[in-house]
Amino acid sequence: MEPENNDVSAQPAGPGGATGSPGSAEAGGTEAGAEAAEGTGPVDAAAPGESPEEAAATLGTIMLAVEELWPESLAEQWDEVGLVAGHPNAPVGRILFAVDPTLEVIEEAVAWGAELLITHHPLLLKGVTSVAANTPKGKAVHRLIESGTALLTVHTNGDSAVGGVSDVLADALGLQDVMPLTPAANGLPEEGIGRVGDLAEVQTLGEFAAKVFGILPSVAGGVRVSGDRDGLVRRVALCGGAGDSLFNEVRASNADVYLTADLRHHPASEAREAAVNDRPYLIDVSHFASEWLWLPAAAEALGNVLGDQGHDVEIRVSTTNSDPWDFILTPG
Ligand SMILES: [Zn+2]
Repeated sequence: MEPENNDVSAQPAGPGGATGSPGSAEAGGTEAGAEAAEGTGPVDAAAPGESPEEAAATLGTIMLAVEELWPESLAEQWDEVGLVAGHPNAPVGRILFAVDPTLEVIEEAVAWGAELLITHHPLLLKGVTSVAANTPKGKAVHRLIESGTALLTVHTNGDSAVGGVSDVLADALGLQDVMPLTPAANGLPEEGIGRVGDLAEVQTLGEFAAKVFGILPSVAGGVRVSGDRDGLVRRVALCGGAGDSLFNEVRASNADVYLTADLRHHPASEAREAAVNDRPYLIDVSHFASEWLWLPAAAEALGNVLGDQGHDVEIRVSTTNSDPWDFILTPG
C-alpha cells in the first residue's frame, strides 16, 4: 500500500542485500543458473500468428495470468498498475519479482536474462514529461527498453487480492478468521486493503513483536514498537506498506495491535493518544520488508497458473535489498 510519498526513484546499491529469506520460486522450468544475458529480450518479437516454440509464453499470456491473480479492477483509483514497458507479443521465459524497480533491480533482471520484471511499486506513478536518460527514472526506462526487459506493476491490486501482500503477512503471523480492514469497492468480501484477524493464542506484545521480527527479511531499521511489552494481544490488524491512513478502520476492528510501515510521528502519536485501554499498540516495520514477503508467494502463484497452462517459465524473486536505510544508531 502506497497512498502517498511514493517516490520509488532508483536507490543506490545497499550494502546488505541479503534478505535472509527464500530467494527463488521455481515455476515450470528448471533452474538454469544466472548466466549473463544482456539484451536477451527480443523487442521485435514474433508477430501475432507466428507460432512460437511449444509451451513458450508471451508477455501477453503472462499479463492474462497476472490479471487472473491480481485483477486491475482491485487497484486503488490513484494507482497506476499494469504494463509499463514491453511488447505483449514478445516471448517470456524468465520472470523476476521485486518490490522496487530500482536500477539495481533492473540490472539484476538483465544479468539473469529475465524478459519480464514484475515489481510491486510503480516506476512511473506520477505524470512525467520526459524519460531522458539523465534522470533516474528515465535511465530506468532506457535500460529496460534497450535490454528488452518488460516491466509490469502489480501494486494495490496485489495488496487487495486474496493471497496479496497483507494476506501473506497475516498468514505468516498465523492469524485466523482474517478479513480486510477496508473491503474492496469492486471485489469480493475477502478482498480489500489491510487485514484483521486473531492469533491462535494470546501473546505478549513483546512476543508478538519478536514473531514479526522473525518472519520479515532482515533490514537495518528493524522493528519499532509502541506499547507495553508485557501487554497482551490477540486481535491483530495489519497493512503491508504505508498504512497510516487506516487508523479509523483499525480502531473499528477492535485490534489489540496494528502492524504497518512508514508510521510518521503525528499519526502514530495521535493514535496512541486516542488509544482505549492502551490499545491498539503499534508496530512499525520497514516498508520494503513488509511487502517483500509477498514476492515468493506471488512467484509461486503465477508459476502455478502458467504451469497449469503448460508454459515453461522460470520465475525468481529478486535478491536485491531495496530498503533505503543502511544502518541505525540506538541508545544503549
Ligand atoms: Zn508499498
